[in-house]
Amino acid sequence: MQKTIVYIISDQRSGSTLLEQVLSCSYNVNTVGELIHLHDYLKQSGVGWPRGWQCQCGEPVNTCQFWSDIMCYADLDIRTMLPTKLTNNIGRHEENREKNERINQLDIIYDALFEKLNCSVLIDSSKNVYQAIELSKYSRHHYRFIYLTRDMRAVTLSKRKWRKIYGQEIPPLLRNLAAVLRKRIKYNNAVEVLGPNHITIQYEKLVKNYPEYLRLIWDFVANEWVNVVVPDTVGGSKGHTIAGTPNRNKVRGIVYDDTWRRKSKERKFFNLIGYMLELIV
Ligand SMILES: [Zn+2]
Repeated sequence: MQKTIVYIISDQRSGSTLLEQVLSCSYNVNTVGELIHLHDYLKQSGVGWPRGWQCQCGEPVNTCQFWSDIMCYADLDIRTMLPTKLTNNIGRHEENREKNERINQLDIIYDALFEKLNCSVLIDSSKNVYQAIELSKYSRHHYRFIYLTRDMRAVTLSKRKWRKIYGQEIPPLLRNLAAVLRKRIKYNNAVEVLGPNHITIQYEKLVKNYPEYLRLIWDFVANEWVNVVVPDTVGGSKGHTIAGTPNRNKVRGIVYDDTWRRKSKERKFFNLIGYMLELIV
């Protein structure tokens, strides 16, 4: 059986946790969340501070038994391990030793995860497209990439909501939208490098008709060992995923939440610009 890593690429607040959870309901499939942040969570620095670098199980990742088993299987030491983030700069593909060592380390972590979880498909929702490209080129594992996009107005408003909850500074609305647009353009261009090894899925369509999209995704992944399950709800199981949406443990139905539309319509200029951008980008 061919072990496959399904890597989800998206902007933040685009529904990647939901997609990850829906996919991981099938037999022989497991999810690890955003593996790119493992190093940060273990070291308790950077990303993850709003939630105390907790694993999904509630323990901080650096004291969670599951992750200490993985570190043990992989023969890694928190003090000396390399970052799990590869690079942010597409185009800089020079074969430097540091990058090769980081990819090798990720390969070993994936091996440990496959062994510990005893599955044939692993979902990694790290989201970062540049990491995806590096892995597709230099990792020894087999990958399928899913590029998930969501209406840029919804992404913008959701990012602002979470910045507010975390007490962060909130930039002007249009500047926020422009940043989301820039990322969309960069990601749209970058995923092309992955060629036929990626598919693009729109969040809105996925949620409105997820049984059909699940079949489409599993056909694309083409792993004969997966026994596909179409769930009614997601969340509620205590796994050991890293990062992801804060309400990932809450049991929730898979329904399209369009409350952002009302908020968007109240901001007429933003709504119009966002609508037009969505048609062309
Ligand atoms: Zn845990």
